[in-house]
Amino acid sequence: MTGTPYELVIGIETHVELGTESKMFCGCQARWFGAPPNTLVCPVCLGLPGALPVPNRRAIELAITAGLALHCETPPHTKFDRKNYLYPDLPKGYQISQYDLPLSVKGWLELPTGKKVRITRAHLEEDTGTLKHGEDAGRRYTLVDFNRSGVPLLEIVSEPDISSAEEGEAYVRTLRDVLIFSGVSEMRLEEGAGRFDVNVSIRFQENGKTMWPPQSEIKNLNSYQALRDAVAYESNRLWEEWRSGGDIRTRTGKITVGWSPERGRTYLQRSKEDVEDYRYFPEPDLVSLAPSPAMIAKLREALPEMPSERRARFVAVYGLSDYDARLLVSDRALADYYEAAVKAEPGQPKLIANWVIGDLTAALKRETIQIGASRVGSEQLAALVRLIGGGKVSGSAAKEIFGEMWKDGGDPEAIMNTRGLAQVSDESAIAAAVDEAIEANPGAVAAYKAGKTIALGALVGAVMGKLGRKANAAVVNRILTERLA
Ligand code: ZN
Ligand code: MN
Repeated sequence: MTGTPYELVIGIETHVELGTESKMFCGCQARWFGAPPNTLVCPVCLGLPGALPVPNRRAIELAITAGLALHCETPPHTKFDRKNYLYPDLPKGYQISQYDLPLSVKGWLELPTGKKVRITRAHLEEDTGTLKHGEDAGRRYTLVDFNRSGVPLLEIVSEPDISSAEEGEAYVRTLRDVLIFSGVSEMRLEEGAGRFDVNVSIRFQENGKTMWPPQSEIKNLNSYQALRDAVAYESNRLWEEWRSGGDIRTRTGKITVGWSPERGRTYLQRSKEDVEDYRYFPEPDLVSLAPSPAMIAKLREALPEMPSERRARFVAVYGLSDYDARLLVSDRALADYYEAAVKAEPGQPKLIANWVIGDLTAALKRETIQIGASRVGSEQLAALVRLIGGGKVSGSAAKEIFGEMWKDGGDPEAIMNTRGLAQVSDESAIAAAVDEAIEANPGAVAAYKAGKTIALGALVGAVMGKLGRKANAAVVNRILTERLA
């Protein structure tokens, strides 16, 4: 990052609620948001004695799917573990999670800039309940709602490959796109269905040595803005703490902090001295899992093409520039539109891309509408491109036709005919206009013959003036140069 005396080193742990019908280990409804408190509960997700968990097959499939979408390996064996801690929103006194054998390991996520952020692991666990704090006649109270307790949660851990707040935001945005794209989660951030723990540290040179003091883990961010603001605040705070000779100079372990958007600052939650010991051990109520190669193959097959792969295919198959491919793929619906047009007119992938990125996108932007609301359908655009490619209309006449199509979605060929925009390729008509132009512009002819090839432009202009924009420019040029030779 420029402008700061240090480099930022960031890793992000993302918690995502999976889009299942039921909870992770019981049959209760998983879509908890907005339901009256404690109505989506049973002995299992309330952690009552003797209740036994039954794993949700769909949750395991979605978790593996997420791993595959992130180019992870799926190890042959995996198991659940108990993560023990006491908190009022955790009725069992432990969370069922995965410790040393997660479902997915060693993947990567490509950002829109092309940078790859490595994924360390993705493991499956269960969500907790929620607490609601209040005050009544001067007495503070806390209410607990277990509707969210036991909702399947996927924790995706990145390597510390991220080097700015902007890149951190790009990472979580891209991750969210991939998870929505692959049907793993709707990741409704406003409902807390995606939360980020961000590990921030600063690295810099001091007296010729590289300094890299311990990180801060900022817990439970749930919006892009919170992520940006919290990273900016905490990295600056670490630097100031270093400069003023604070704790950070002697501290050996990380600290855990929370983020207060109201106050625009972080606050200390835990330091290394009181770091929690979760006493992980294998969950005795569940058997270990061995996802079969057949199951993994089936999930891999069902995976839709990811944006980065689609972009690479657009470059390889349609011969587009990386830049154009990126623009098209940045919007899934726009990319679908493009491919539908190419399917209708397979010979002109580049020309179609130019029209989609150029005139069509400009028209959409002018009215601030999405491609889904376009009045020119993909087949119509393909028909227009067919007229251009077939030499039936000139490029500038095509723009006029497109303008008409945009008004009321007309057929390009019909517009061409009613407006008399068919390109004149008839050589005798063009030759006659060329002769007239030569006769009427002796100065330009003389200049051209004296070697000023630029004078040809004036003659071409004169011919076009006679025939209108309908004239086939290539034919005009050829006949003119023949006549002047
Ligand atoms: Zn339940
Ligand atoms: Mn977790």
